[in-house]
Amino acid sequence: MSGALVRWALSLVAGGGDPKSGPPRLTIVRHHRVYADGERALYHLGVSESMLTGQLAACARAGLTPVSVAEALARLDKGTPGHVVAFSFDDGYADNITRALPILERAGARATFYLTAGLMEERRAPWWDELAHALERATKPQATLAFGGAGVTVDCSGDAGRAAALRSLLPLLRVLPAEQSARLAQLREALGVEGRAPCELADWTLARKLVISGMEVGAHTLTHPFLTLLSPDSQRREMADSGALIREKLGAGTPGVAYPNGDHDAHTVAAARSAGFAYAVITRSGDVNAGSARWELARRPLTEGACTGPFGFSARMTMAEVHGAFDHLRKGRVEVAS
Ligand SMILES: [Zn+2]
Repeated sequence: MSGALVRWALSLVAGGGDPKSGPPRLTIVRHHRVYADGERALYHLGVSESMLTGQLAACARAGLTPVSVAEALARLDKGTPGHVVAFSFDDGYADNITRALPILERAGARATFYLTAGLMEERRAPWWDELAHALERATKPQATLAFGGAGVTVDCSGDAGRAAALRSLLPLLRVLPAEQSARLAQLREALGVEGRAPCELADWTLARKLVISGMEVGAHTLTHPFLTLLSPDSQRREMADSGALIREKLGAGTPGVAYPNGDHDAHTVAAARSAGFAYAVITRSGDVNAGSARWELARRPLTEGACTGPFGFSARMTMAEVHGAFDHLRKGRVEVAS
């Protein structure tokens, strides 16, 4: 049975219950980009507008209109009984404001947006967008690269080859920033790629709309590195300076931080605490309760795959995912970029 069918079958037996009763419990949903319906990016990191609309409608029908992470944590601290759902969006793409924000507002929902402040300020594309851009704009169909002793041949002559190349190269870019830039430059050279990827992150004018609309903003580092590869000092600087830049540009508090790619260790947690953040979110799936480690709060992805059954978008599967019915299917799976 395929993964989608397994999830659909599991959703038939997943229960919800009354969200207003039971011990205090929080589910944080993790999103990234919001695409126009029908848009298929090579590195598809998000959901369509109609999928997000459907997810919010499914939550509303279950009595779970999403709030921001900070609001949800305040509820937990007060010991308010029942289940609360928070939505979060990582990276700070412009589509979060142009597409997600109006959908959230129409649903009466709020969310938290973790911004990659340094890349927004420099108008620089994240590394995975540079990777996808190189594969899409290749003028030479094939190239063989040697990254850190690992040889990899990429075939950009068709969609399947580009998708396979993306999958092969993503883990090879989990390196320090300088080495990552060198490898991307090597890839562009080998594939005969002119120019760099456009920055699709929001600018500050656009991001200000989040604050005006009552959404929470948080930090997602300056440049989206793999934090555990950095020294403790550099980790702290990436997080603290991100929060400071967001406060300077948007005049909003930044209580929380999302570790890029969920990558964190004990040094990362210590750095987030010493940088003054009240909480941090990660990418491991699970619920949050009053006893959860505050700088390692679990989140669940509500991907298109997780919410699509044999008959298209499924509100039942969406809510099964919100309730954690699929957590065990995801154990041990490593996400490379987010
Ligand atoms: Zn990210």
